[in-house]
Amino acid sequence: MTPPEAPRSEVSPRLRAWLKFYEELGLAPVVRRPTHAIVTAETAEHRQTAPVAAREEAVRPTKPAALPIIKAPAATTLSLFEEAPARAKSETLEEIRADLGDCRRCKLAPHRKHIVFGVGDPRAQLVFVGEGPGAEEDLQGLPFVGRAGQLLTQWIESLGLKREQVYICNVIKCRPPQNRTPERDEIEACSPFLLRQLDALKPRLVCALGSIALQLLMGKAVSITRLRGQVFDFRGTKLIATFHPAYILRNPPADRDVRKDLQAIRQLLA
Ligand code: URA
Repeated sequence: MTPPEAPRSEVSPRLRAWLKFYEELGLAPVVRRPTHAIVTAETAEHRQTAPVAAREEAVRPTKPAALPIIKAPAATTLSLFEEAPARAKSETLEEIRADLGDCRRCKLAPHRKHIVFGVGDPRAQLVFVGEGPGAEEDLQGLPFVGRAGQLLTQWIESLGLKREQVYICNVIKCRPPQNRTPERDEIEACSPFLLRQLDALKPRLVCALGSIALQLLMGKAVSITRLRGQVFDFRGTKLIATFHPAYILRNPPADRDVRKDLQAIRQLLA
C-alpha cells in the first residue's frame, strides 16, 4: 500500500528546490527516509519486495582504511549511459576534440567565449571531473584556472603531483550564464564527450569534484556528503568523489573531509 504523501506545507522550500533540480537532471524520484514523510509508490513497493541489499538507497559508509570498491549501480536513469557503451572504440583526445568542433549542440554555445575541453597529461593516472567552466575558465579556455582552480592545484600538489601530471575536465564544456547549475539538456548534449574522454584516457582513478560530476558518473541522484571518500567502480575504472573546491571556498571547515579524501586518493594511486 502506498503511504500518503506529505502535505506540500511539510516540504521546505529548500528541499522542494532540490527535488526540482534532481527532476530537471532527469534523475530518479528522490525519496526521503522513512522518518520523513515523502515516499513514492514505486519506492514504497520496492522497499517491501526488494532484497535487503537492494533496498539500501546508497552504499553504507565504510572505514577510510579499507577503501573497498563498490559497484556503481548498473541501471541508471540517465539515458546517455545506455547510448555510450564503455570502451566502445579507442579514440584519441584529439579526435574527440575534432568531433566536438565549434560545438552548437546546446543553448550555452552563443554565450561562451571558449569551449573548455580539458587539459593535462593524456596518459594521466588521475582525472578530475568538475562541473563546468566559470568566468575565468571561459576567458582562458582552460578548466579550473580561477579561485577554485587554485585550490584544486593545491590539492593536486598535496598528492605529490604537478597539475600537468593529471587531467582536468568538466561535465559540461561551456560556461552557463551567471555560473548557474548546468541544466539537463546541456548535460545530455555535452557529457557524452566527457565519457569519451574518460574512455580515451583510461586513468587508474577518476575523482568527481562535487555533486554534479558525481551524479553524472553514478547515473543517479546521490548525496556527495554521504558518498564522498568511498571508492566505486565506474565502467571498469575506480571512481572517488570529494567536495567541489568552490564549495570548500565557501565552507572552509569541510576542508577536513577533503584532506581525508585526498589521503584515500594517495592510497589508491600508491
Ligand atoms: N568549476 C568547475 O566545476 N570547473 C571549472 O573548470 C572551474 C570551476
